[in-house]
Amino acid sequence: MCEIFGQAACEVRVVPNSLYARLHGRADATTRRNVIYLRGPLQSFLADPELMLHEYFHVLHQWRSGRLTLLRYVLEWLRRGYWNNRFEREARAFTATHLHRMHALLAPRSAPAA
Ligand SMILES: [Zn+2]
Repeated sequence: MCEIFGQAACEVRVVPNSLYARLHGRADATTRRNVIYLRGPLQSFLADPELMLHEYFHVLHQWRSGRLTLLRYVLEWLRRGYWNNRFEREARAFTATHLHRMHALLAPRSAPAA
């Protein structure tokens, strides 16, 4: 993860098969400061570049900067719901912008010609 997101990503804890995540409705993951809680196994998360970008964005750009707090998220969610709240819109925009790079980074390198 560090290779893709930089050193800061190494410090993010990822918790697979999390009861805490399952308590958050149908979401595949939920984040807090420096933690990503996954509903399912780690392998599924690592196989989903879109979800990884989205969740790491929440942690590295929103939680870590202090812009995202539990109270702010809840207030935003009450005003605009899940899809239209600004934290989710920002994460989706970031993901849409960078997904092609993420795919390129994750693509298996072609074997050198013999
Ligand atoms: Zn999100």
